Amino acid sequence: MTVAERTGQSALQSVDSYLSEILAAIRPLPPRELSLDEAAGGVLAQDVTAGWPLPPFDNSAMDGYAVLAADVAGATPERPVTLPVRAEVAAGDTGRHELAPGTAIKIMTGALLPAGADAVVPVEWTDDGTARVTVTRAAEPGHAVRRAGGDAAAGDLLLTAGTRLGPVQLALLAAAGHGTATARPRPRVTVISTGNELAEPGQPVTPGQIWESNSRMLAAAAREAGYLARRHPIVPDRKEAVLEAIEGALAGADLLVTTGGVSMGGEHDVVKAALHDLGTVSFRKVAMQPGMPQGFGVVGTPGTPIFTLPGNPVSAYVSFQLFVRPAAGVLQNISPSRLASRRARLAGPARSPRGRRSFLRGKLDPAAGTVTPVSGQASHQLASLARANALIIVPEAATELPEGTDVDVLELP
Ligand code: AMP
Ligand code: MG
Repeated sequence: MTVAERTGQSALQSVDSYLSEILAAIRPLPPRELSLDEAAGGVLAQDVTAGWPLPPFDNSAMDGYAVLAADVAGATPERPVTLPVRAEVAAGDTGRHELAPGTAIKIMTGALLPAGADAVVPVEWTDDGTARVTVTRAAEPGHAVRRAGGDAAAGDLLLTAGTRLGPVQLALLAAAGHGTATARPRPRVTVISTGNELAEPGQPVTPGQIWESNSRMLAAAAREAGYLARRHPIVPDRKEAVLEAIEGALAGADLLVTTGGVSMGGEHDVVKAALHDLGTVSFRKVAMQPGMPQGFGVVGTPGTPIFTLPGNPVSAYVSFQLFVRPAAGVLQNISPSRLASRRARLAGPARSPRGRRSFLRGKLDPAAGTVTPVSGQASHQLASLARANALIIVPEAATELPEGTDVDVLELP
């Protein structure tokens, strides 16, 4: 290893070129026929049309009385109209009712409109009678009637391919009678943390050990980004243990994320050592801060994408947001899911090493349009990261940006 390599000054790959390479290498998941529960958060792979009208039959929008509008046309409080009530029909009743002129049928919301009726008088406009009902207000034809096909006609396009299935889209599929959807499910990611120093939070530690935090952070960030996420138990710094964890995770994951073990520490960098031999994962130095050591490639057959993120928590988080998050969209065959970006004015000076793009942790005030770098910008400083809500981008060419400079910021979710 040369001095230049050790100091990280040689052959840095730009952030943009690294991201393009990742996005080009990731293949969309195959679409599957999913139950509606599994389809939540998935992305439709086909257009969905209505097989039936929605609603499927004329029904009542209110609790009241099905009538012929003409029979109650003159009703007022002073000159009410009284009609005999011949039947009662509730939501779910499938028997066929016929309304005779000059009569009423008591009806509930969602119930099939009796043949011959053309309006529903809301119960509030009546005396709520049982054998006979007195109506004190006229209902126009069609009043409180939900017509078959009034929401969508048979054959109408309901949802287009590429639509993410959120709560309302799932409800629409269900309401239209679809029990399944052909979709790309939320991609499954397994997060694997490595390090002999790591202990489970809540357990005692001795000096030299720290509580493991990356896997919690990354699994939660992954869920927020649209993945289904699992955490692997902590993996010790042994090559075989790392390989075993990766191989074991392959069956249940569409993408793997490791943290730790990829910096320049030689034999201690077990992730790098374990994957190096496979030849399908390449390790680089990316021109960014934090997060210079990165690795990306595929493992297993046919090839599951793997990101080997640095171990420092801030580096791992920033790397996740920049590189792993966008991959979720690609796996679902839609555009890469990126953090929202905007311009803001620096409310304090910002520094950055030359030749590297810095992602400083900042507090964005969206109303004022300003962003303040938080104190504590080192890559282990989680407490500072927790105070930030944005990443301030300092371009490669800049080493110092004075207060008042307009900068690009990425909003943290
Ligand atoms: P490494 O990349 O393995 O050399 O780790 C770099 C730094 O990040 C070290 O200080 C580690 O203790 C720390 N670190 C690595 N993995 C984790 C983790 N899962 N949770 C918290 N800190 C970690
Ligand atoms: Mg380590």
